[in-house]
Amino acid sequence: MGTGSGRIIDLRSDTVTLPTEEMREAMRSAPLGDDVFGEDPTVNRLEEMAAAKLGKEAALLVPSGTMGNQVALLTHTRRGDEVILDADAHIVHYESGAPAVLSGVMLRPLPGQHGLLSPEQIEAAVRSPDIHTPPTTLICLENTHNRGGGSVYPLPALQAVAAVARPRGIPLHLDGARIFNAALASGVPASAIAACADSVMFCLSKGLSAPVGSLLCGPADFILRARRFRKMVGGAMRQAGVLAAAGIVALEKMVDRLEVDHANAKRLAAGLARIPGVLLDAGRVQTNILIFRLAPPQTAASLVRALAMDGVRALPVGPAAIRMVTHKDVEGADMDVAIAAVARHLATGR
Ligand SMILES: *Cc1c(COP(=O)(O)O)cnc(C)c1O
Repeated sequence: MGTGSGRIIDLRSDTVTLPTEEMREAMRSAPLGDDVFGEDPTVNRLEEMAAAKLGKEAALLVPSGTMGNQVALLTHTRRGDEVILDADAHIVHYESGAPAVLSGVMLRPLPGQHGLLSPEQIEAAVRSPDIHTPPTTLICLENTHNRGGGSVYPLPALQAVAAVARPRGIPLHLDGARIFNAALASGVPASAIAACADSVMFCLSKGLSAPVGSLLCGPADFILRARRFRKMVGGAMRQAGVLAAAGIVALEKMVDRLEVDHANAKRLAAGLARIPGVLLDAGRVQTNILIFRLAPPQTAASLVRALAMDGVRALPVGPAAIRMVTHKDVEGADMDVAIAAVARHLATGR
């Protein structure tokens, strides 16, 4: 059967996006140097661009978003400290237990609404100084929220969290892997979102389609200390300008087109929500990620397997939950193919 064209429609993640021709060209011709000596002009340019775009003093190129978050934790905290975050956060689920191993911190996961925390619940979780308790020294938010189904903090909600954190002297780290998706969906510049946080990590390798790389952004003294932790965890690279060159194209050319991904996700959601057996509130799909559930007895594993035979790839994220993510390498018509495949498989019960 397949999609008829032999085309694979890969909706597992926006990380599957391949670099553009312009990125490959930029990688080939980028001026290079040893970045551990601070001498790679292309890395320096990317870090300056990233900092400027987010309205921060400085930025640091790291190989992955995971390393960006973990270097942030290392820089903000000390062993035995407590970090407040959402229970469904990427840092909790998908970073291999790194906070326990690298920073030696306690995580204090709170139940969010589609991954979003309220200022009240954060305020209630902040510890008072006491020899019995771990000091709260960091708050982490995620925007857009991956396991929350690409949910977005409205700007006032972020500002309200900042208003809890700042007077208490607790820094706020934003896992902004998809901050430009958040900016687009909430209709505010990424710098306005970033202004609520002390440090921000964002990924070049998701919807922005660069092959490798994330940036940690923040105050100059914070980034200087983060630079040492990046070296410690093995993330200091040499002629990293070959990667940064693609990142520069990503920042210059790939941000505005995220709008297309959001429109495709809404189109996909509208179609899926009409299929009997699919549990999805299409109105909640705000960015490029959608998570739907299946009415029993269907399981995510069996539907994902059946879809794969049709050339449609999706990711099971729970026993009856499936994630689909739109990105540059899928198009509008692919949404209709995916919708039809889900409808067919649920109707035949395979
Ligand atoms: C992808 C992602 C990261 C980082 O992932 P890497 O695969 O390590 O680059 C961090 N946070 C969120 C919310 C993500 O979606």
